Amino acid sequence: MLPWLRDPDPSEDPEFREFMSAGDGRPVDEVFGERLRRRLRALVAPGNLKHGIAAGFEATGLNAAGALVQKQLRWPWARALNYHDVPPHRSGAFEDQLRYYARHFVSVGPAELAELNAGHWPHPKPGLLLTFDDGLRSHADVVAPLLEKYGFTGWFSVPIGFVETPAAEQQAFAREHRIDFDARDFPDGRIAMTWPDLRHLDGPHEICCHTYTHRRLGPRLGEPELALEIDVAKQRLEAGLGHPVRGFVWVGGEEWAYTRDAAERIRAAGFEFSFMTNNAVIRPHGELLQVQRTNVEAHFEPAFLHFCLSGFYDLFYLPKRRRVNRLTAARAA
Ligand SMILES: [Zn+2]
Repeated sequence: MLPWLRDPDPSEDPEFREFMSAGDGRPVDEVFGERLRRRLRALVAPGNLKHGIAAGFEATGLNAAGALVQKQLRWPWARALNYHDVPPHRSGAFEDQLRYYARHFVSVGPAELAELNAGHWPHPKPGLLLTFDDGLRSHADVVAPLLEKYGFTGWFSVPIGFVETPAAEQQAFAREHRIDFDARDFPDGRIAMTWPDLRHLDGPHEICCHTYTHRRLGPRLGEPELALEIDVAKQRLEAGLGHPVRGFVWVGGEEWAYTRDAAERIRAAGFEFSFMTNNAVIRPHGELLQVQRTNVEAHFEPAFLHFCLSGFYDLFYLPKRRRVNRLTAARAA
């Protein structure tokens, strides 16, 4: 074809290329492709995907339907939730969640957990076991008074080495040992509970061991580290409280943070229950050293919270839960 009859190729026009480029001279399709890839990656990032699904399920009534089906099919059951920091400026949001829990669940403390495990559940609603990890100051200052207002027992899991760190060094300790905190409401800088806080909570609530230094019990830990994080941590907590500590809470929750060595050590140390984070309801005659929890936080919007409680969320974790349960199960005698 004669050149002057052909449609001009805009990409050959420097002015057009300048107009369509990102300003750095790269062709528009390359820039557009990169933006699209970045958008898609953000959309399917695990967190966003879960939130997107949760919003869709909420809008279509599936969260409510799931909760109803779960309530009927799995009866009797309880769900354990785990929170981290609940800073004072989030107390209103946390109280909204407690109001919701009080309508739909009954509180599960150690006595109710034992009842349910024995197959005895005389309550009209499912149970809710509320755990708070990491020994944070907000648990004594914010969480416990609100739990008591709504009739819930709290399970507070404490890395005792954090509580025993001087206040001025606690924020550095927390950063080093991967404890999330928000110190903005505590101008004196102290972010961990104190021994008097623990003794005050002990009794109405349950204090559990959460290792000594908030360490993931991964495969690289040797005998001395496991002894410190499990046995010494338990003994230290018991010496301060004056009675046996019954519960252990695994740190982290990533699959690599569960090992057979640690599971055997937790069993041998005499813990009656241990908590993991692989999302499943608690049913009668279960393994109390493999109680699964679902992570929620005070800042979660209602749609995502309802999704976490609906039972659908548990399905995402089924393969991981099976693998971790096999790994940490008691060895046949
Ligand atoms: Zn923790």
